[in-house]
Amino acid sequence: MTAAVSDAELAALIADLRITPTPAAEPAPRVTVPAGPPPSTVEEMREVLATLDASRARSKQTRLGPSELGTPCQRQIAMKLVGIVRQPEDKRPPWAPMQGTAMHTLMEEALHHHNRQLGRDRWVVEETLTVDPGLPGVDPITGHGDAFDTDYATVVDWKYTGVTALRQVKRKTVPNEQLVKPEYRVQAHLYGRGHERAGRDVRYVRLVFLARSHDYSDSAEWTEEYRPEIADWAVDRYYATHDLIGPYGLDLAANPDRWPAVPATPGKACDWCPFRRVGGPADATGCPGDTDQKINTQLRGLIA
Ligand code: SF4
Repeated sequence: MTAAVSDAELAALIADLRITPTPAAEPAPRVTVPAGPPPSTVEEMREVLATLDASRARSKQTRLGPSELGTPCQRQIAMKLVGIVRQPEDKRPPWAPMQGTAMHTLMEEALHHHNRQLGRDRWVVEETLTVDPGLPGVDPITGHGDAFDTDYATVVDWKYTGVTALRQVKRKTVPNEQLVKPEYRVQAHLYGRGHERAGRDVRYVRLVFLARSHDYSDSAEWTEEYRPEIADWAVDRYYATHDLIGPYGLDLAANPDRWPAVPATPGKACDWCPFRRVGGPADATGCPGDTDQKINTQLRGLIA
């Protein structure tokens, strides 16, 4: 039997249930949309992307990492070490490297996905590695290893490349060690050194060239046995460069006119060198590339 509810009780129940209405939000101020079609988003994003890149940690880093220590040019390393800052003449966002960064994020996600599929951590992903602990007064060499395949004791480093670079890697008549840029090769071995120092057995290093094309199948890879002596060479040169530029060497802080005496290896590396500038000898404002080889030799003789 249902108990009867009076009209007064029902009205009180409804009053209790009534939800206090939220005061209406202030209407957003109306934006006055300019007349006519919108300005170019491509143009607007150009500036946004350039400033985004400049704000990223990698752009601000002053310590040298494995990607920089393999350059054939010791002077480039020296200029980075002393912190020479050249204003980029090109104001465009570094579009190709930015795509490469985005691709690294995708591959990182893919490897974590693979580890989850396998139910174990076959892949060591984006680990911070200490390649060398440094010397008194000299920073340690650290870097982020893209990936390490524990099943095959293999360092994996991603490169995001166009068809020309892919063609270079796929050449059949060139010795394996000459198929890739020396700086890439050295970088891979430096990561190998970092993984070895982290306690891993390292057998191979591999560069994976992901195709900047519509088809993943265009991708290629390069592999060689891990050779610690290659990494050791790069580490030794790093410390030697410190000595060369410091107060017991050329003392470049006090003698900027001695910059031409820092050995340079002009070539392909000049095309992307942030210190390259036209004209004049090398000094604290930049380097002209290969025009000062003669003065190099003379100066090195003077200070030997
Ligand atoms: S411009 Fe060329 S030679 Fe000069 S520091 Fe850069 S890579 Fe070396």
